[in-house]
Amino acid sequence: MSNVKFGPAGLGPVATAEKILEEYHKLGLKSCEIAFTHSIYIKIHEAKKIGDFAKKFGIELSVHAPYFVNLNSEEKEKVEATKKRILKCCEIGEELGASIVVFHPGFYGKNREEAFENIKEGIIEIQNEIKKNKWKIKIAPETMGKINVFGSVEEISGLVKETGCSFCIDFAHILAREKKIDFEKVEKLFPQKEWHCHFSGIEYGDKGEKNHIAVKKNDWENLLKNLPKNKSINIICESPSRIEDSVEGLKIWEKMN
Ligand SMILES: [Zn+2]
Repeated sequence: MSNVKFGPAGLGPVATAEKILEEYHKLGLKSCEIAFTHSIYIKIHEAKKIGDFAKKFGIELSVHAPYFVNLNSEEKEKVEATKKRILKCCEIGEELGASIVVFHPGFYGKNREEAFENIKEGIIEIQNEIKKNKWKIKIAPETMGKINVFGSVEEISGLVKETGCSFCIDFAHILAREKKIDFEKVEKLFPQKEWHCHFSGIEYGDKGEKNHIAVKKNDWENLLKNLPKNKSINIICESPSRIEDSVEGLKIWEKMN
């Protein structure tokens, strides 16, 4: 049996962090992804305290980097700004005691192979900086839901193989992109013992992801019964009703095991 943790995307303002983490803890949630998606809103001097609260309440923290990043931009300044933003998340994340920084790797641009090489290079450079700073935090490119955005399961798995980076498996994105989830394929592509995952309900069309929606009971059941055995799995819920849905997922998991 796998060890599965559930928790929402989002912690909210610094001022209420302790209260919110305590609430998550009371609900049985063991994980939380802090959203720096619109801005890196936690200051370095505030991070340690929040990390201590998370520890106190037994909650594993991760960080989601800003949406405004692209390791495959044609403009060099944008690539540099991307690396800076991700590294800033790593610096704050390290202080928070977070395990990983999830990020959207970038767009395809003109050529898919070139995109892979550019993103790979960017990851290696970020990892060199992490090493220089002696941080333990890892960076995790995410599987993406739109077909014209870099981030198929094969591409993310390839980046992991070639750079040793971590990864985020977004099952809703995989469904939107491939119109089904081939759990066997995902397990083969990610043989690692630890999985960081995103999940939500999703509306999608020919081009992939449209909207994240609430998780239905049978979405949870389908995911949870197909998860591989003997792994340590972190599931961050990104639906609009992320806290309730995380609790629902946890309940279904407990019933199944
Ligand atoms: Zn994301």
